[in-house]
Amino acid sequence: MTASHYTKVLKQIGHKKGRLEAWKKHNVPKPRKFGSSTKRCVRCLRYNAHITKYGLHLCRQCFREVALELGFKKYS
Ligand SMILES: [Zn+2]
Repeated sequence: MTASHYTKVLKQIGHKKGRLEAWKKHNVPKPRKFGSSTKRCVRCLRYNAHITKYGLHLCRQCFREVALELGFKKYS
């Protein structure tokens, strides 16, 4: 699961305890040290289009919204 977080599924089957344990056993993603799943946007928690340059840790959509406040200037 890369596009979404696995905890979203837990809300749907959370009320059935045995079913929940069985689901977790086979479907919870293993913890990773590197890769796209380790980096999330600090503002909206999105995985895609992550900007790590200058220690921003924002996605491209959030960067567009906050760039002027951060002091970035658009030249084109
Ligand atoms: Zn974002």
